[in-house]
Amino acid sequence: MSLTYSVGDLTIHRIIEQEAPFFPALEFIPGLTAEVMAENRAWMRQAKALDEQDVLLLCFQSYVVKTPHHTILIDSCIGNDKSRPQRPKWHMKTDDTYMRGLKAAGVSVDDIDFVMCTHLHVDHVGWNTRLENGRWVPTFPKARYVFAKQEFDYWSEQNAKAEVPPFADSVLPVVEAGRHEFVGNDHQIGDHVRILPTPGHTPGHSAFTLGRDKDDAVFSGDLMHSPLQALYPELSMKFDVDQATAAKTRRSFLERYCDTETLCCTAHFPSPSVGRIRRKGSGFVRGGVIWRGSRRELPSSLGGGGSVRMQRSEMRIEVG
Ligand SMILES: [Zn+2]
Repeated sequence: MSLTYSVGDLTIHRIIEQEAPFFPALEFIPGLTAEVMAENRAWMRQAKALDEQDVLLLCFQSYVVKTPHHTILIDSCIGNDKSRPQRPKWHMKTDDTYMRGLKAAGVSVDDIDFVMCTHLHVDHVGWNTRLENGRWVPTFPKARYVFAKQEFDYWSEQNAKAEVPPFADSVLPVVEAGRHEFVGNDHQIGDHVRILPTPGHTPGHSAFTLGRDKDDAVFSGDLMHSPLQALYPELSMKFDVDQATAAKTRRSFLERYCDTETLCCTAHFPSPSVGRIRRKGSGFVRGGVIWRGSRRELPSSLGGGGSVRMQRSEMRIEVG
């Protein structure tokens, strides 16, 4: 499996930390019914997006993007030595998978010029910091860490009410070290990096669009977690802070990039995780996934009573 993509004058590397069954689908996506699950089980399993127990498989990864000017890390994954008792696979882990992934991409921690987090959830900030002599220090010592001001303010407020561990151990130490930049939605880095506000999953969630004056690639973060949500953009997931806004954002994002040449790099879709968004009529392809396009009846189990129509978006992952 290739972990490297070239598009325009960008080189994109996937740095995978974990890829595993994560959460029972019916629980992860509260609006998903047994009926819709049954309808979609076969292709989901074929795409390795669902296991035999109907548990969703998710990939946890960072992207390293080289532009002609900078090396940029997008989302910093899970991290080591972090206390995450609710998630045994993430709790106090000490493996070298992530650092080996960086090395395989030909990148060292010193090479990263910017770290950009689509949002500040636990699995997107972990490697922002590492433990050194009992203190959290920035993992990427030469990088500027770009945080959306709105997202930072939201978590700052939450953390003031009750400590949010990933914010406390993976975001605040970066700010204390003075390595941060708080930015608005109009922020750009040179002529290659732009922000696309995509609220819903969290209030300040951002996608990043990269490419010289055009979107050669977009990094969609957690505006969708499973290919099932590309087929049913209405289906928000359990941890979307604002479920209705998340659904609206998902649909407009899919429409924006559908049938364009922009490479969509998802945070959590199963490998290959990366592809171009297509609306098209048929079938499945080997090594990739096709979601059928066109309008169809909303299953009555979703409350449509047959009279409400649902727009289906389709994404085909075109690899290599
Ligand atoms: Zn995530």
